[in-house]
Amino acid sequence: MPSNKSVSDAPISQFINCRILRDHCLQREDLWVRDGKILDPEKLFFDEHGYADKCVDCEGSIIAPGFIDVQINGGYGIDFSQACDDAGSGVSLVAKKILEHGVTSFCPTLVTSPPHVYHKVLPQVKVHDGGAHGAGVLGFHLEGPFISLEKKGAHPEQFLRTFSSGGFRDLMETYGGLDSVAMVTLAPELDGSQSVIRDLCQKGITVSLGHSVANMSQAEEAVQHGASFITHLFNAMLPFHHRDPGIVGLLTSDQVPAGRTVYYGMIADGIHTNPAALRIAHRAHPSGLVLVTDAITAMGLPPGRHTLGQQVIEIQGLHAYVAGTKTLSGSIATMDMCVRHFKHASGCSVEEALEAASLHPAQLLGLSHRKGNLDFGSDADLVLLDETLNVKATFISGEEVWRK
Ligand SMILES: [Zn+2]
Repeated sequence: MPSNKSVSDAPISQFINCRILRDHCLQREDLWVRDGKILDPEKLFFDEHGYADKCVDCEGSIIAPGFIDVQINGGYGIDFSQACDDAGSGVSLVAKKILEHGVTSFCPTLVTSPPHVYHKVLPQVKVHDGGAHGAGVLGFHLEGPFISLEKKGAHPEQFLRTFSSGGFRDLMETYGGLDSVAMVTLAPELDGSQSVIRDLCQKGITVSLGHSVANMSQAEEAVQHGASFITHLFNAMLPFHHRDPGIVGLLTSDQVPAGRTVYYGMIADGIHTNPAALRIAHRAHPSGLVLVTDAITAMGLPPGRHTLGQQVIEIQGLHAYVAGTKTLSGSIATMDMCVRHFKHASGCSVEEALEAASLHPAQLLGLSHRKGNLDFGSDADLVLLDETLNVKATFISGEEVWRK
């Protein structure tokens, strides 16, 4: 009997009867997993003379890398931007629930808040791996408060800040620390922002441009200093103008340094972005498109009226309104819904739709050596989908964590 033991004692799973997303293509191949990582079967057969301990029949499913949501404000009644003593359990609850949407890791997102909220919430949640307990936390996305007054959107005006004390000091005073921070959204036209962008990038934190009135050259300068993402493209920025396309112009800018990619977030819920705008962005710069939910507290709650903090909202279908009005209070989209809508609205391939929720966010966060793909050695974070991209099951580190 051949042995697996020449390299590792860990059991080996073989996913069969599936099409796997590899090298930008769905391929009819089995997927092998050991120790939570994707295994090269050739090495297993020829070098180790190993075999599978367990067979997982995928019944014709598509296997894609687990989805990564870099902008999610809460859900299921939880608002991540609330200064409470159990912020950690709120994040955990959402982490567990989003497994059914195929999300295997995410960036809990805080909107503009007073300093005491950051000081209270940030230390309670550490970067950690996913598992049966829920999707992994890749670090916070801090959207604000260093953003534009004119493009504040739903962010509370009284808590907006500038870099008036020299830049990075303002940032540290506001946030208290950056240990569990993966991304910061700021407005690059604020005085002092360029040095802040450099400092953040040096610390390995992704800088995103958003809630901003920056013109194109300010946006390009920010990218040259290290910024690499655009927060919810088209929303909360200057509209595209042919003589100064503003931040939107980064999609086709010739001033992006060689070898660098500018990524951009799209809320593809069919409500926040017109399908034609989605197509323009995708056709201009397909490899930068990152699907985000930007989901709020109401995501995952049933239709009807709900009291959330100071607000009463009403959920009707895919819309969350301020109760009694037609004012949208934010997105209640789920990631799998965004993937399906994006494919439908843009006419893109299944592969492109899946990569916009997996490969691209992993590349954006500098994690594509282990997440966002099914390459040998990558984390076995998987989502099993049917032909119409409905989630059938979710796996983290090769273990099943959700099944329909
Ligand atoms: Zn926003």
